Amino acid sequence: MKKDRKLVLVGTGFVGMSMAYTFLSTGGVDELVLIDVDTEKAIGETMDLQHGLPYARNNMIIKAGGYEECANAEVVVITAGTAQKPGQTRLDMTATNAKIIKSITESIMESGFDGIIVVASNPVDIMSYVVQKVSGLPESRVIGSGTLLDTARLRYLMSEYLGIAPSNIHALIMGEHGDSSFVPWTHAYIGTKNLLDYLDEEGRELSDLHEIYHQVQQAAYEIINRKKSTYYGIGLALNRLVQAIFNDENAILTLSVAQNGEYGHSDLYTGVPALINHEGIQKIIKLPLNEVDQAKFDQSANTLKEIIETIINPILNS
Ligand code: NAD
Repeated sequence: MKKDRKLVLVGTGFVGMSMAYTFLSTGGVDELVLIDVDTEKAIGETMDLQHGLPYARNNMIIKAGGYEECANAEVVVITAGTAQKPGQTRLDMTATNAKIIKSITESIMESGFDGIIVVASNPVDIMSYVVQKVSGLPESRVIGSGTLLDTARLRYLMSEYLGIAPSNIHALIMGEHGDSSFVPWTHAYIGTKNLLDYLDEEGRELSDLHEIYHQVQQAAYEIINRKKSTYYGIGLALNRLVQAIFNDENAILTLSVAQNGEYGHSDLYTGVPALINHEGIQKIIKLPLNEVDQAKFDQSANTLKEIIETIINPILNS
């Protein structure tokens, strides 16, 4: 029988462990199992986390294990794979990570797993597609972290620029978690006030916000050049996503979700606002995109579709 709040993490690298560590502070997980191809690393990471339990928010079971642990898990988070190297785009990692993610998904499903898979490995929109196709799970139960991190970066930078708390910045990044993402500015709000009206009143320019978006788009490159990897932000973003599932929140988050024509495209995963709860994705929130934004969405979706056709489908069919 499925155990509520049992979380399995596959991939105990920087990203996976940053997420795992956040749960010691926030609580919300009853059992956390760490899996890695490097089993010694998974054991070492487990011991290190366990030693923080006396100071953690809640007690919880933390252990290293094998794929059989997925059998009764509620959620499996995949952060395994090769990380982005300086100068590499997320899409450069596609074929290598697709093969790794395919074999991980097969192992998860062999256990009899019947919960929700959350994918963070890059390129995340493509890897989410691979996991859904290989697992055969309903599309609502395979979710990519998508532009959840990009959206957090945007909200943070906008909050600094406008001097308003990030919790009152309602703006999002849509499309690929990568170079072809975009911000639908007409759907951005400061509190409950339309952003464009707010900027007008304040005598500020939308072009400043375009520069902020540019910084978001370049953020991973900037961080990777300096410290080789990005992980704290995504660690917290994954915590937020898992909590939305475990707590049956009906939260709206920007996630990589299977498309069925909501924005004019099908048979791909990409970043859109979506309603999520204990059972996975309930629905995609449809925003009426203007012509310019729809063209950006189309271009982003077409980039992903081309990769699926040229790189992914041959791997899935092999
Ligand atoms: P990392 O190299 O530190 O960790 C990867 C881990 O995966 C390693 O521990 C490795 O042993 C493990 N691994 C590799 N192959 C495996 C397999 N077959 N089975 C089980 N474990 C396996 O990398 P990282 O910095 O943690 O990044 C992990 C992934 O997350 C990368 O693809 C990276 O691009 C991605 N990432 C995504 C976001 C996002 O917003 N979605 C943000 C940052 C990083």
